[in-house]
Amino acid sequence: MDDFSVMDSNAPASERAAEAALRPKMLDEFVGQEVVRNQLSLVLQAAIARGTTPDHVLLSGPPGLGKTTLAMIIAAEVQGALRLTSGPAIQHAGDLAAVLSSLQEGDVLFIDEIHRLARPAEEMLYLAMEDFRVDVMVGKGPGATSIPLPLPPFTVVAATTRAGLLPAPLRDRFGFTGHLEFYSAAELAQVVTRSAGLLEAELTKDAAMELASRSRGTPRIANRLLRRVQDWAQIRGTGILDLEAARAALSVFEVDELGLDRLDRSVLELVCTRFGGGPVGLTTLAVSVGEEPETIESVAEPFLVREGLLVRTPRGRMATRAAYEHLGLHVPDGTLFDS
Ligand code: ADP
Repeated sequence: MDDFSVMDSNAPASERAAEAALRPKMLDEFVGQEVVRNQLSLVLQAAIARGTTPDHVLLSGPPGLGKTTLAMIIAAEVQGALRLTSGPAIQHAGDLAAVLSSLQEGDVLFIDEIHRLARPAEEMLYLAMEDFRVDVMVGKGPGATSIPLPLPPFTVVAATTRAGLLPAPLRDRFGFTGHLEFYSAAELAQVVTRSAGLLEAELTKDAAMELASRSRGTPRIANRLLRRVQDWAQIRGTGILDLEAARAALSVFEVDELGLDRLDRSVLELVCTRFGGGPVGLTTLAVSVGEEPETIESVAEPFLVREGLLVRTPRGRMATRAAYEHLGLHVPDGTLFDS
């Protein structure tokens, strides 16, 4: 399995390589997420002091907030080898058995998108996480027998964009669950400043703030926009990543003042116009935008909700007054959420 296979399966290889180059390697370099960083640091230090492998770790939160990066950091901090896989990559229990039976003592097994693991694999994982054992089926049909294979102590680090989707028995197998939050603009300014240093680009302070405030609270987006600003500065600007370059590049790539991209705006516009402000169901919305419901729910929605542009109600998604105002649409009469 190649090392990039789980990072963002839709991203082109060049994008994934660029991302890998900007990843912080140790916990100290990891910007923000104070709470999770403190908790994790304690869990890791205690395990190191005891000379044991750390408890299994579950990381949840929207894409691009640093879950894969933290898994790599955990492996580096405990000096274990990192093995990468993902829920969708494991089609059958046998795929997981193959991964598990090749683990060495102290390895860190990263499972991205664990909520998409097939049920039989999930059951095999319970046993492996709890008893460090995997039952390997030998033979076929009525003569098949299962042979228990002991596993060396290892740590599972799992990531999910939807912790609520994990069955309770699986969630209970994790000794520590960290929930990653969207980053503040100040933290993202720190992220892009660090990245600019690694890219050997000259980024001004005001440009860093501009990028930070328009990156949807997400380091992956901040870094991606930084590279687009670098492109703009190189081809159309002075080479320096200044405020003018930042604003021009963000406009070329259709990122608005709040940081909403094309998908966010399509979702909002549809709710406001075609569905009269809602409520509209997730599936209907997804079909109208031409995206998977999961993409809407895990990528676009969390940020729109956080920005007070969209609310989730038991009957569906509804646009707020702020959504109409942001899109420059006439605010209709009637009850709208004034969040
Ligand atoms: P996820 O696994 O949650 O989708 P990643 O760990 O792949 O996110 O992070 C995406 C990109 O953002 C990586 O290139 C990484 O360098 C950067 N990144 C994420 N979190 C941080 C952070 N706290 N500090 C610096 N860079 C970060």
